[in-house]
Amino acid sequence: MIDEYFSKDYFEAREKFLSACNENGFVIKSEKHPNAKGPQNRDIFMDCAIKGPEDAKKMLLIISGTHGPEGYCGSGFQYGLLKSGIANEWAKKYKIAFIHAHNAYGFAWDTRFNEDNIDLNRNYLEDWNNPPKNPDYDELSQWALPTDYSEENVNLAMMKLVEYAQKNGFPKLQSALTAGQYNHPKGVYYGGNGPSWSNKTIKNFAYEITQDIENIVIIDMHTGLGPFGHGEILCDCAPDTEEYKRLHAIWGDEVVSTKTEASVSADLSGTLDSGLTKLLSKLSPAFIAIEFGTIDPLSVFKSTQGTSWLHTYGDKESEFGKKLTQLSRDAFYPQSSEWNEKVWARSVEVAQKAIDNFA
Ligand SMILES: [Zn+2]
Repeated sequence: MIDEYFSKDYFEAREKFLSACNENGFVIKSEKHPNAKGPQNRDIFMDCAIKGPEDAKKMLLIISGTHGPEGYCGSGFQYGLLKSGIANEWAKKYKIAFIHAHNAYGFAWDTRFNEDNIDLNRNYLEDWNNPPKNPDYDELSQWALPTDYSEENVNLAMMKLVEYAQKNGFPKLQSALTAGQYNHPKGVYYGGNGPSWSNKTIKNFAYEITQDIENIVIIDMHTGLGPFGHGEILCDCAPDTEEYKRLHAIWGDEVVSTKTEASVSADLSGTLDSGLTKLLSKLSPAFIAIEFGTIDPLSVFKSTQGTSWLHTYGDKESEFGKKLTQLSRDAFYPQSSEWNEKVWARSVEVAQKAIDNFA
């Protein structure tokens, strides 16, 4: 039954999400992507749905697909909440909102980055005149995304990255590659040079739906880091901040700050967390990401690199292109009942704590 919550592609996921929203009386607003399309030249969208008592001041917002194929997980959770009746139950007392497919392009094409090779979770900088520097990435850029994608050169690149990790430690490599970089538009984990369409669109949605809200909890669904099916609760804020205290009040010691070494993630720049927390600062947002493990980190990195290369240099319709796409999908969405069940149980548990805390 849980498997039915998950979909085989973006289009099926969206259709199921919208029909379940309609069945359950959620009000939907959709924004069509103005200049990017999915496979078969089909239109792609970011969708927002909301339900709850008119006078409710507390909102739970759940976001899917910030990183393309990670949307199978997030969309599956959103659809499951609608289909199981849980969302309706919660919406008797509180505003329940969903944003579906933050990175619709990446979801539709099974690639982490967006139509401009931007990592949306690095695209929410406050000051675009002074983007953060990442000299470690600059040093590794040739190997982080090799333009010659022959097997021989890809293996050489991987060897160079492993050498770097052996010399400097794995956390240093992870940070160099994934913390975010603003100098190499064709590289990996590129944050962009200004706000993307997804950035502006999700902010508009978030602003519109929170006009009468005083208190908000936001859950952004991610996959690809940590042990198989394990859902770690991540936040951007340091443990000595007010925001962290709010998170701790809800989830206790389960909250792990990316500012500490305990986290499966590097400390990132320009995250959605930082963007929405600033936008909605009057509502004292409690923002977390849930990060579900899939396969080993090097394979996840390799698949990310593969579809980023494909986007800039390759042919998505070729056999090789299809192979890279499949690898990326498998890395972020294992397509296993065991994994789906773990994701579902853990996600409901985490969200339920937010609801309990409202009371
Ligand atoms: Zn992610």
